[in-house]
Amino acid sequence: MKRMSFKGRGMRKKFIPLIVLVTVLICGCGTPEKELSGGSVFAFDTYMTLSYDTYSEESFEDIKREIGCLEETFSVTKDTSEIARLNKEKRINASSDVVVLFSKAIAASERTGGAFDITSYPYVKAWGFSTGEETVPREDELKELSAFVGYSKISVDGNKVSLSDDASVDLGGIAKGYLGDVLADKLVKEGCESGILSLGGNIRVIGKKTNGSLWRIGIRDPRDREKLLGVVEVEDTNVITSGGYERYFTDEAGNEYWHIIDPFTGKPANNGIISVTVIGRDGAMCDALSTGLFVMGEERAKEIYKSSDDFEMIIAMKDGRILVSEEISKAFTKDGYQRGRIEVVSGQG
Ligand code: AMP
Ligand code: MG
Repeated sequence: MKRMSFKGRGMRKKFIPLIVLVTVLICGCGTPEKELSGGSVFAFDTYMTLSYDTYSEESFEDIKREIGCLEETFSVTKDTSEIARLNKEKRINASSDVVVLFSKAIAASERTGGAFDITSYPYVKAWGFSTGEETVPREDELKELSAFVGYSKISVDGNKVSLSDDASVDLGGIAKGYLGDVLADKLVKEGCESGILSLGGNIRVIGKKTNGSLWRIGIRDPRDREKLLGVVEVEDTNVITSGGYERYFTDEAGNEYWHIIDPFTGKPANNGIISVTVIGRDGAMCDALSTGLFVMGEERAKEIYKSSDDFEMIIAMKDGRILVSEEISKAFTKDGYQRGRIEVVSGQG
């Protein structure tokens, strides 16, 4: 295995907190906007910022406990987590969170024809993305690892989750989406009506802004982190982005390798897509789809959109096009971004 020298760009970025891409709408009319209070926490390998109308120090401590608990369950790198135990023992009596998340992960694999596949973990590990020691694996190594990859190796029977053929899993492509919904449901149950949870590339909004207007969520331009691709106006939903720019490294020849792996090749997906934003109510499914569509490429992403009614998408292409699905195109503005060319993707019928 050849170790790479890092140009530093991607490696450094890994630790930069993701800026909360929320633009505050200055509204000169209607109900005045009440400022939301909130706090930040580092978990799931990223900075999370949560602001909501029912914020108190006590409730935030409670939220932090919940995040810590789910991190302890889902983390692939913490030896004591349930997922680490599953990867080691291959069969466990799982908690309800793991059972629900695995069922969603399998459903997402089926919908995406295996482009989203949590058993891609051996590849993720071989590229060093889970350990922070990024390297380019040899072709023969990737070929050998292919024997351990494939979502048919996962089975869920009641609370028994098992992995066959020495498979192992990594929930990095789906867990934060699930977390967003768990936290939002908890806050709503406790009386929250307005909030925004920014979970490192994943945004979960609760209700509308306190002045009754829609949330304006900025979507980062994957080619220039200082700029926005555009702004989308939403309420009570998830806005989840997978971007090659989030975690990558560069080899001596200047080739960039990002952390979203095509399970059929074992290599970073490379099909002209540079970021995928998925918008919808089911956070885990949208998170899985954002990763899956990134792997599937433009044509298959369009096909899956046409045959679905539970998500909208905004896809940035390397060639400058921005593919925006029909429904969300009404709520999306380029917001001063001049380079992109919007192409509306029509839905069913
Ligand atoms: P996301 O940022 O949601 O696209 O998730 C990317 C993370 O998911 C990576 O860091 C890996 O841990 C994992 N991953 C990479 N490729 C895949 C894939 N094809 N299917 C499922 N998970 C993946
Ligand atoms: Mg994802």
